[in-house]
Amino acid sequence: MVQEQLITRGIHDGRVLEAFRKVKRELFVPENMVGSAYDDSPLPIGEGQTISQPYMVALMTEALGLKGGEKVLEIGTGSGYQTAILCELARDVYSVERLPTLAERARKILEECGYRVHLKVGDGSLGWPEFAPYEAIVVTAGGPKIPESLLRQLKDGGRLVMPVGDRFIQELLVVTRSGQRLEKQSLGGCKFVPLKGKEGWDSTGEEEYQ
Ligand code: SAM
Repeated sequence: MVQEQLITRGIHDGRVLEAFRKVKRELFVPENMVGSAYDDSPLPIGEGQTISQPYMVALMTEALGLKGGEKVLEIGTGSGYQTAILCELARDVYSVERLPTLAERARKILEECGYRVHLKVGDGSLGWPEFAPYEAIVVTAGGPKIPESLLRQLKDGGRLVMPVGDRFIQELLVVTRSGQRLEKQSLGGCKFVPLKGKEGWDSTGEEEYQ
């Protein structure tokens, strides 16, 4: 997976590649999906949600530029796979999931793997203000715009990665804060499940697969 799906597509951060070699994706997919755990695609994890394509997880993680000492906030714990990757790369990881069943399953697997991680069930479009600011924020669901709450919780010099667009197609944005200035860069098109919540999409629409 690392060679064929990540390195050939340009993922080059050695620490990120090492994390992908170490974290076993099959532990984070439902039992009936274990045979497809290393497929080059997202997979369903229940509740209409997905574990993202490995390359997309790697691209978003690499864009955060983690060196090892950071406090990171992830919005959308999902299966817990990206949470585990982040735990390998940063000092403290905080992750928010709105669906309790997914959050519980992720908590169990992450604990079994021995990761020390802070998990919460709630509306991640509002971030997790109690522990802000964060050096890095990654949103693993697509929203109509970058939530103001998340921008407020991003530390000076910090980076935020998030898919932004409509419910069907988004652009993967990297935002770097420098003082009051926000620099935006696009990493290209992507397709994620919707970020629901106060600063995301409302909770009435149908769920879409990534
Ligand atoms: N990073 C995850 C993984 O590796 O499995 C991928 C998660 S999936 C693509 C996106 C997740 O975002 C879903 O589990 C969904 O329930 C969650 N989500 C959507 N809106 C949310 C919100 N407002 N707060 C927290 N989680 C949210």
